[in-house]
Amino acid sequence: MTVLVVGAGFSGAVYARVLAEAGHEVRVIDKRPHLGGNAYDFTDENGVRVHAYGPHLFHTKLSHVLDWLRPFGRFLPYTHKVRARLHDGRLVPLPINLDTVNEVFATAYETPAQVSEHLARIALPIAEPRNAAEHLYAKIGQELTDLFFRPYTKKMWQMDLEEMSAAVVKRIPLRMDREDTYFASDETQIMPADGYTALFERIFEHPRIKVELSASFDKSALRDFTFCFNAMPVDEYFGCRLGELPYRSIRFHKRMEPDGPAPAAPVVNFTDAGPFTRETVWDALPNHRVRETGRRSVTKEEPCDYRDNGMERYYPVKTADGRYQTLYEEYRLLARDEPNMAFIGRCGTYQYLDMDQVINQSLAGAQRWLAQNREA
Ligand SMILES: Cc1cc2nc3c(=O)[nH]c(=O)nc-3n(C[C@H](O)[C@H](O)[C@H](O)COP(=O)(O)OP(=O)(O)OC[C@H]3O[C@@H](n4cnc5c(N)ncnc54)[C@H](O)[C@@H]3O)c2cc1C
Repeated sequence: MTVLVVGAGFSGAVYARVLAEAGHEVRVIDKRPHLGGNAYDFTDENGVRVHAYGPHLFHTKLSHVLDWLRPFGRFLPYTHKVRARLHDGRLVPLPINLDTVNEVFATAYETPAQVSEHLARIALPIAEPRNAAEHLYAKIGQELTDLFFRPYTKKMWQMDLEEMSAAVVKRIPLRMDREDTYFASDETQIMPADGYTALFERIFEHPRIKVELSASFDKSALRDFTFCFNAMPVDEYFGCRLGELPYRSIRFHKRMEPDGPAPAAPVVNFTDAGPFTRETVWDALPNHRVRETGRRSVTKEEPCDYRDNGMERYYPVKTADGRYQTLYEEYRLLARDEPNMAFIGRCGTYQYLDMDQVINQSLAGAQRWLAQNREA
């Protein structure tokens, strides 16, 4: 069969490769001038590898995802750490751990039991939290919530914690010990040694895959294909006829500076009420210093509405009342009736997905489609 894949990010890449290996002819289009979707990276004028859409750290528990990915590149072990900058400039571990608690409350706890007792004392008795604020209050009390989550959430989502679903903060880990790695619960934390773009080049390198960049989806192209896997925003496909599915976006502010001492961590989050959420020093990530130039590159992130950033869709908006998830369900029903098309990936299914989750879902989707078409 001849298959059209819209989007050269991880979802499209997995579908394209799996279907090509199964014998189908695949055409991939992307409206951007590069491969890799939001994981795209490049080497800048300072000789530093920069991720164009914010730092992408690969972490997973899923061994079959790794088995699929490994043949396409060399990977370096990398354990990611993040620090939070407090109002007075002190840097503390994030997620909150024993040392964070000691810094904030000027305590000298040595054991997880002491930290648990402290948090149990300051937690508010809320039996059934109805939103993100109540969930955090019930877990870590008001002071830590207001320090680490209230201003950050406001600038990230333009919403108060009270307006947000508890689901958004439920996944945030809390450590009673000194564990200070960001993705401690995932056994595998790696980075592609030559960057994500090189990884994508190898995934798409197959005689039955043709890639066309700077090419936007157009419905008239469908007549040339038996099926289409589509990573474009599902509401945009339907002309937003039921309303818009909103996203938060990020403006990236890059600066160049002379090389300095290694930072406390490659990524520092800002807890203040200013416009920026975090900063990445790129050469502090493994193999990101590609050429010695004596200069380095640093990117600060400023969240905004996607309509104020060229419709760049990054994070689906989750409110406490779930209204956009309900709207997405309506689009999903419309999409089900679209002949010979499946919506895939982050914007096709209106979910925030890490890279390993996108690969996992796309592998499963591609295998399902192959099985159905073998039967047919
Ligand atoms: C700031 C940020 C940081 C992140 N950090 C991490 C991280 O540390 N670890 C992690 O695991 N994940 C991270 N992610 C998530 C990661 O980016 C996603 O999992 C991944 O990009 C999803 O791949 P995708 O194919 O679904 O979407 P995308 O990568 O967005 O690819 C979709 C592609 O479709 C193209 N497209 C859209 N509409 C059209 C159209 N009409 N015509 C043609 N092409 C079209 C787009 O140009 C895009 O290239 C991060 C995401 C963001 C936004």
